[in-house]
Amino acid sequence: MVNREELENRAFPYKMLLEATATMRELVERILPPKALPSLELGLKGMESVFSDCIEKAGEGLPIVGYHFALPSEFISAFDCVPQCMEAISFMLSAILPNTAEKYYDLINNYGHPYHTCSAQKGTMGMSLDNLTDFDAIITPTAPCDNTCASYPFFELKKKYPLILLDMPYKHDEAAFEYYGNEIRRGLEELGKIIGQEPDYKKLKKHIELENQVGKTMLELFELKKAIPCPVENMASALGSAAQIYMAGRQEKVDFYEGVLKAAKERLKAGVHHGGMEEKIRSIWLYMLTFFDLSLCEWLDRFLGMTILFDVFNYNFTEPIDTTKDLDTMFYGMAKKGMEFPMNRQSTQFYYTFIEDCIRFAKDFSADCFIYTSSIACKQFGAVPQILREALKDEVGIPMLVIDIDVADPRITNIKTVKEKISVFAQTLL
Ligand code: SF4
Repeated sequence: MVNREELENRAFPYKMLLEATATMRELVERILPPKALPSLELGLKGMESVFSDCIEKAGEGLPIVGYHFALPSEFISAFDCVPQCMEAISFMLSAILPNTAEKYYDLINNYGHPYHTCSAQKGTMGMSLDNLTDFDAIITPTAPCDNTCASYPFFELKKKYPLILLDMPYKHDEAAFEYYGNEIRRGLEELGKIIGQEPDYKKLKKHIELENQVGKTMLELFELKKAIPCPVENMASALGSAAQIYMAGRQEKVDFYEGVLKAAKERLKAGVHHGGMEEKIRSIWLYMLTFFDLSLCEWLDRFLGMTILFDVFNYNFTEPIDTTKDLDTMFYGMAKKGMEFPMNRQSTQFYYTFIEDCIRFAKDFSADCFIYTSSIACKQFGAVPQILREALKDEVGIPMLVIDIDVADPRITNIKTVKEKISVFAQTLL
């Protein structure tokens, strides 16, 4: 007979993450003055709650469903299952358990997977080789990059996990949203057959509505960032990235964003910048933050007076999904959201949209510069920095710093080098 611990261990990454998150939350609560870093306190609390819930469900024997972060997490809530985002495992490990994820990157590299693929998948692939993960099924869009498409078959071929692919079209127009909506529906039905459940669309609707509600709060917070000084601490973007994946469609995400918004409104009223230093530079990080060392966010706030207005996980907004009509309408809205989701919007079409977004953000948010953490894995992005740099210079007159990095592996570019590059760049702006 399978005992509870064995069942829980099927979700072993959640056990690792829970222990690290709980310890970090305790430290934050005991060491930092109250309300010193609201987004960190709220984010850790929310994640601890989500991780505990997932372990509890794994212990009850519910199926474990792996999914790509590019499929909005709340879509999986059509099932009673343990959703586990493949990419978030690697990135969360790298963020809260230093020197842990590297072992798994090395395992999969030594197995023969190309070194220049994305660490987002490589961590979970390496953990699979070490039998630390287990999935009843995996579902992923054929997006946002070739790298994703080339990495996921590993799980099907080597580990024999059933793999469901949702074909995402290249164009982002009405016909494409309709097509992808049908793909999501087909994929959820296929997933249901594999795990022996009917998709519960009423339950899905409830979680989508919760996400719609959070979307309004996120948008309000986004608008507040136009204020000078920005009333939102840099760390809110880091925790916001985690909330996007782990807390989607859940009350924890509502609480997180309402708490961060409340703190931002208080700061706005007081006219102060977080960290006790004057805001000197307003930066937009158009892709990702340095997940392997998020203390960089605080360092920028407190030592350089540099605001991170937002990163790729915190500037993509779509209209609320309409749940009041028929299922076709709901799936159309889900497709639209899915195709405009972080990295999908930027990487699955021509770059005009991305460049236009950047120019508009630079103007609307009074940005002084852009910072682009460029990964060797994102090959589809290889040509963009130069084009974007020229566009920003011509249209807004601001520069962009490119840092070659792996955001979840400090061995490529370490945090000391990152800080040096940003410090030198900042001198040219002041
Ligand atoms: S777009 Fe880049 S960062 Fe995102 S999954 Fe693909 S390779 Fe990784």
